[in-house]
Amino acid sequence: MKLVLASDNRHKLEEFRVLFTSLDVELISKAEAGFTDEVEENGSTFAENAFIKAEAVMRATGLPAVADDSGLCVDALGGEPGVYSARYTGSHDASDRDRYELVLKKLGDRTDRSARFVCSLCCVFPNEDVLRAEGVCEGSILFAPRGEHGFGYDPVFSPVGKDCSMAELTMEEKNAISHRGRALKEFRKVWEQYYADK
Ligand code: IMP
Repeated sequence: MKLVLASDNRHKLEEFRVLFTSLDVELISKAEAGFTDEVEENGSTFAENAFIKAEAVMRATGLPAVADDSGLCVDALGGEPGVYSARYTGSHDASDRDRYELVLKKLGDRTDRSARFVCSLCCVFPNEDVLRAEGVCEGSILFAPRGEHGFGYDPVFSPVGKDCSMAELTMEEKNAISHRGRALKEFRKVWEQYYADK
């Protein structure tokens, strides 16, 4: 069976392919499914945005589609940057560094720095059945960036139980504890249960 990933990000496609190894699923990117439009992510939660993307791709392709939406939520900033993680600062020219520096600037020397990465996954089938999964990685915001790996806010995020930033972990170490890694594991369980119940 074909399943479309509502993303053209090759890294995500690989992660999903690993997850679906041993299941009878052929995972294809939205470009491979002939979908080239940009979907406007105008939801107010990660779960809403994942649903909006998956549903748009399912409707256009007639195939089941799965999408993810993720970001960083900082408690002392009222949950910011949240669903605006990719476009925090407001400028299209901004870099990952501009965005994490804005988080550091807004926090200043506050000591309440708890935060979490969240990833929502949503799969929409042509019969309108919907599967959802979520993964969370708890941690805190450092006072200065550390590390060279990863992307986004990784250099300023220290996961609970690790004495380093997310950007100092190897990809394997990050995947084992990350919001996306956890959401993917949960999704596989939900997927298997869905087919077991059929
Ligand atoms: P998307 O859901 O892949 O579009 O990610 C939204 C934004 O959240 C990214 O552009 C990053 O700024 C941030 N983000 C999501 N996942 C991570 C992560 O694993 N590390 C660091 N930043 C992340």
